[in-house]
Amino acid sequence: MQIVESVSRMLELSRDWPPKAKVGFVPTMGYLHAGHLSLVQQANLLCDITVVSIYVNPAQFGPKEDLANYPRDIDRDLQLLGNSQVDYVFFPTTKEIYPENYRTWVEVDGLSGVLCGGSRPGHFKGVATIVLKLVNIVKPHLMFMGEKDFQQVVVLQTMLRDLNVSTQIVPCPIVREKDGLAMSSRNVYLNPQEREQALCLSEAIQIIKSLYKKGITNSDELIRRGSEIIERKDGRLDYLKLVDSNSLEDMTVADSHTRIILAVFIGRTRLIDNQAMV
Ligand code: AMP
Repeated sequence: MQIVESVSRMLELSRDWPPKAKVGFVPTMGYLHAGHLSLVQQANLLCDITVVSIYVNPAQFGPKEDLANYPRDIDRDLQLLGNSQVDYVFFPTTKEIYPENYRTWVEVDGLSGVLCGGSRPGHFKGVATIVLKLVNIVKPHLMFMGEKDFQQVVVLQTMLRDLNVSTQIVPCPIVREKDGLAMSSRNVYLNPQEREQALCLSEAIQIIKSLYKKGITNSDELIRRGSEIIERKDGRLDYLKLVDSNSLEDMTVADSHTRIILAVFIGRTRLIDNQAMV
């Protein structure tokens, strides 16, 4: 495994990818867990060369968000990746990614302003910009991303399509703890009581799915029943929505294309989760 710290070195490598090699890319912000490693595994399965990036992108954090405290442990990350048949780890510095005269930003209209984009203004502008930059630097054929960040996948698929970038996203399933909590680097913020409360996200999804199975399709009713679970566990709901999986638009009547998607504050920690209705 090679560790690449400079953009120029990564560009040299990607300029000379062997012509027949399929290159897979897993962008991350580090503090890796089994969810990230499942993306690496999938990349190894489908590609000849696997590149993982570790970069905590300041541009996707709001001024009051957790950029300074975001968990970091590069030594542990490198050890995990070293055991996972990764070929290259790209670990750039902010000085190189956003030099002093940096001026260019990518916006995906509409999709960026709803759900997490509504609560985190500018977040997806930061995400779209860094991912396009990383894709231009690494030049992968396939990019492996978790459905944990479902809106992110939709926003980035749209960006790649609209800007005629040939890299394809491979969406990968959410990896969960045994009790259902979606794995996240931010779970480390939770104290034992909050860790228990955090189960309300996956529980709300499960109750909505089971009510839908019983024939309830009215979104308001399903959302009300899901929200009750959040309130009962003292979670503070940011949003809980039933949206169309492609357009992310609210659905008044749920069907097989519906995605249940939510964000909840547990104490000071904001957690997200989602699942297909069927
Ligand atoms: P992050 O480091 O949080 O930016 O995540 C990097 C990538 O890992 C993104 O594509 C995430 O969607 C994905 N990811 C994070 N958590 C999980 C999970 N529990 N299961 C699957 N993928 C995940």
